[in-house]
Order: sequence, then structure tokens, then C-alpha cells
Amino acid sequence: MDLHRNLIDGEWVDGEAIANINPSDTNEVVGQYARAGADDAAKAIAAARAAFPAWSRSGLMARHGVLRKAADEILARKEELGRLLAREEGKTLAEGIGEAARAGQIFDFFAGETLRLAGETIPSVRPGIGVEMTRQAVGVVGIITPWNFPIAIPAWKIAPALCYGNTVVFKPAELVPGCAWAIADILHRAGLPAGVLNLVMGKGSVVGQAMLDSADIDAISFTGSVATGRRVAAASAEHMRKVQLEMGGKNPLVVLDDADLDTAVDCAVNGAFFSTGQRCTASSRLVVTEGIHDRFVAALTDRLKALVVDNAVKEGTQIGPVVDQNQLDQDERYIAIGRDEGARLVFGGERLNRETPGFYLQPALFTETANAMRINREEIFGPVASVIRVKDYEEALTVANDTPYGLSSGICTTSLKHATHYKRNAEAGMVMVNLPTAGVDFHVPFGGSKGSSYGPREQGRYAAEFYTTVKTAYTLA
Ligand code: NAD
Repeated sequence: MDLHRNLIDGEWVDGEAIANINPSDTNEVVGQYARAGADDAAKAIAAARAAFPAWSRSGLMARHGVLRKAADEILARKEELGRLLAREEGKTLAEGIGEAARAGQIFDFFAGETLRLAGETIPSVRPGIGVEMTRQAVGVVGIITPWNFPIAIPAWKIAPALCYGNTVVFKPAELVPGCAWAIADILHRAGLPAGVLNLVMGKGSVVGQAMLDSADIDAISFTGSVATGRRVAAASAEHMRKVQLEMGGKNPLVVLDDADLDTAVDCAVNGAFFSTGQRCTASSRLVVTEGIHDRFVAALTDRLKALVVDNAVKEGTQIGPVVDQNQLDQDERYIAIGRDEGARLVFGGERLNRETPGFYLQPALFTETANAMRINREEIFGPVASVIRVKDYEEALTVANDTPYGLSSGICTTSLKHATHYKRNAEAGMVMVNLPTAGVDFHVPFGGSKGSSYGPREQGRYAAEFYTTVKTAYTLA
């Protein structure tokens, strides 16, 4: 099997071969990937630094051309890339192809943005002087990504970084080097100059830490857990560097008595269990008013019973496996914690055996839970959701907001009054009305409030806030 190597200063560089294992079939090796070390990270950072002056001053058409070519290739290969994603991460094939397409659309969007970078010119308060405000690249950007969106998250960080003229050191999560390597390969062949994008696949504690410790990285964009996010923030303060963190969630989906039951159940099934519940925007808390509670739980349980959990690439699979043994252990630990806390497990939570050996878990639903329980406060990151029964809208809003997180927040209701009030008062970066808490567009801002996010928003035109710095120039003419 060919070794997929790291990309440093335009060269493919060897490293210890690590097997990428398929969570739907642990006998299958998806590919061999070279593990980078701290030395490789240092070389990658130096290469990005050396490439920065020329890339940041490169013509717009050079940047546009590379991003455009990458978009075209990703979109043309979305089935193949989606299958690779499904094999290494465990999302269903349809979800994998959808995510690959989204990565292509993101590159397409930022190809366009290269040609739309605008500034402002205004008169000074002093007569005869003009003031220009322009955006410039920040410098060398470190990009550290999680395993749960192996192609979309790297795309939504790398594309704007390159668009605005930054150079990049990219460290993907260890579980998903396949999609990361594919993006680096596509951009390399699309004509990126040496050193502009460097790929270092390796351990967070080694390669990631070397990036945090480097004084030569000007900005870090990180997505992952709160614990790692804290380290990134602390290390970045030490170096006075710009930082953007996207972290966990404990997203509520409120279901009111006047909700359309089918819509509410669809939102809950999709939001809580699709992608095996492994989404930062997953609806892990279902906050349901008492008039609809029993009907909602009965209908949701029926839907869960019918869900097909199987090999991610098998026709008809709706829920793929959990990503690996560690995450499966964590999911099972929380299911045990929920039971111990007195929650009622109305469905699921059992390990499942399928034709191929994988980390299969039956989606789990708890009822009779209190918002103070650990299963409702801590991110589980698996196919596990809890129902919290509340009296009315006011209590639902209080419970929805009673969390350290603030990524996404949803409500199912046919009341314009409650929908409008909720949009204004939900403590979250993203609010969904009659839609799942997960599932967002690629051309608008993404991010949260409270403990979920730190720094400027990602995606859409707001990405410029992080990937550029503003210069104010005065001219006496
Ligand atoms: P993680 O924090 O374990 O790892 C994220 C990345 O950080 C990985 O690349 C990892 O190797 C690296 N890392 C680990 N230790 C490091 C260190 N000391 N220095 C530098 N880098 C280090 O997270 P994960 O398990 O890969 O992902 C799951 C988490 O990501 C969940 O909490 C989920 O909510 C969150 N997530 C958030 C969003 C969002 O946009 N808010 C999106 C997807 C996932």
C-alpha cells in the first residue's frame, strides 16, 4: 500500500507509516499515512514563513486560479472523496458525499472572494488628507482540525486563509488523515507555490503542541474539544497571537405543544442522531413541553426503532459506526452515568454486531431527565439524546439557555410569537426555527457564544475578520 506523505515546502516527506482504520470494518486499512514529528512541524512553519512575502503579494488571479481549480476538482471527485470520508470517519456515504460537495462549494466561494476584497476610503477630519482602510493577510496561520468533519472543516479554514494571502501549516486530527491528504494533494497540483500550504499529519501532543509553542505562527484557527481549545488559547496569549476557537456544544431543541409533530420528530432524529450524533451542533437536549411530551417521545422512539445502523458505505445505512473504540467507550460510559443518575433509557444504547466488525451503537434515548444531570451538562459526542420535560415556553427557554455552551439552539413551534422571542433570546451563535440544530450553509457565519467559541466567526464573508488584519493609511495630497 502506498504511503501518503506529509507536504513540507512543496516536497512530499516520509515519516513513520500509520494505518488509517475503517470504523465500519476494523479489518480494513483505508491507507498508510506518514506521521510527522516536531522537527517536521518546525520545517513546515519555516517554509510557510519563507513563502509568505511572495504569496501575500501575489496577484489576485493567482489566488483565484488555485482556489477555483481546487473547487472544480473536489466537486468533480465528490463521490470518491465522500467514500474515502465515509471509510475513514464512519459517516454514511450520502453524508460523506454531501460533506465533500460542501468542501468544493467552500473553495468555490472563497475563489470568488479573492476578487471581492474591498477597502474603504474616507476623508480625514483634517482637510486635504485622505484615509484608506485596507485588509491585509495576517501571516503564517496554523490550522488544527478535529475528526468529525474531515473535509469540510479543513476546507472552511484553508480556503479563506489562502484567499486572503496567508500561508498555512495544517495539522488534521490523527483519525482522519485521508481527507486532509487529499485536500493538500489537490491544492498542490492546482499550482500552489512551495511552502504556501504545508501538511503535517501527527499527534496533537507532538505536532499540535510544536505549533502552539512556535513564536513564528501569527494566528491559529482551531476546532476541537474545550480542553484542547483552552491550551491553544493559553499558548496563543503567551505569543500574543490571534486565535479562533470552535469547540463543543450541548445544543437544545425545544419542542412546544403547538409544534407540528412530524417536523419536530424529523428535527430530533436528524439533529440528534445523524452523523452518529458526532456533530458539535447535535441536538443532545430535547426540551419538550408537557402537552406534546408523550406523543413526541412515542413517535421519536418509533423512528429510532426503524433506523438502520450499519456499515457506512452499505446501501440503506442511515447511521454509521462511532468513530473509534475510545469514543464508543465514552458513549457507553455516559449511558451508564445517565442510568445511575436516574434517567430512563427508553430506547437503544446497546452495542450492535454487523457483518463487518465495527464500532456500532444503537441510538440511545433517555427520558425523565433533569437539566442538572451530567448527561445534560457534558458533551457526549455520540448517538445519545435526552428528553427534558418542561411546563411551558418560559421554562423551556430557561432550560435551553442553562448550559455553559452556546453553539446552536433550535425550536419547533407554529407560534410566530414564540419563534420570534426565541430567536432574540436563545443564548447561542446559531438559532434554528423548525429546523434541526445541525446543518448549516457554507456562505454565512458559523460559530457560537459562551463556552462554545472564542474569537471571530468562521465561514462566509465574516471569515475575513480572522484571516486579515486592517491597515489604516493617511495621505496628504
Ligand atoms: P480534540 O480537541 O481532541 O482534537 C482536536 C485537534 O487538536 C486534533 O487535531 C488534535 O490532534 C489536536 N490537539 C490535541 N492536543 C493538542 C495539543 N496539545 N496541542 C495542539 N493540538 C492538539 O477534539 P476531537 O476529539 O478531534 O474533536 C471533537 C471535538 O470537536 C468535540 O468537542 C466537538 O464538539 C468539537 N467540534 C467543534 C466544532 C465547532 O465548530 N464548534 C466542530 C466540530 C467539532
